[in-house]
Amino acid sequence: MVTERAATERRQGTVGDDCVFCRIVAGTAPATTVYEDDTLCAFLDIRPIARGHTLVIPKRHAGTLDDLDAALGARVFALGHRLAKALRRSPLGSDGANLILNDGKSAFQTVHHVHLHVVPRQNGDIRTFATGFLFRGRVGRQPDRAATAAAIRTGLARLDTEEPAGPSDTRDKESKA
Ligand SMILES: [Zn+2]
Repeated sequence: MVTERAATERRQGTVGDDCVFCRIVAGTAPATTVYEDDTLCAFLDIRPIARGHTLVIPKRHAGTLDDLDAALGARVFALGHRLAKALRRSPLGSDGANLILNDGKSAFQTVHHVHLHVVPRQNGDIRTFATGFLFRGRVGRQPDRAATAAAIRTGLARLDTEEPAGPSDTRDKESKA
């Protein structure tokens, strides 16, 4: 089983120390985590297009959608869905969100560990959004990351009060316990 998994991971390419997202999961690379459970992790994009730009990843390495278990993919989207709703309810006060998954180099996937972008949007923000898209990662575009993560967690907590165990909640185990 272990051997089979190792072989699969070799086929999938970058894993472990070679993959920055696997290092984040392992706690050996820094990240500002917004949410975590047994199978998923969500953290702030280090090069945000907009404040609150979050990435959702499966903890187990999958280089592209070809490598990703479909049920796990559904969980990734369910968490992205939940984060988009949480952002609306957070002190960041988003009006909407772009959920984007770039699959493969041809589609501008830059980190080869599947990740779903959740980018909060404001009404009329096209100019700042375009600037953020063009100049991602420039120093000065990252207001207090801890406060940003706390604001998103506040949104998640508010959503929890509305939907204690939403139909697509990633914490099925708890709701069924
Ligand atoms: Zn990885």
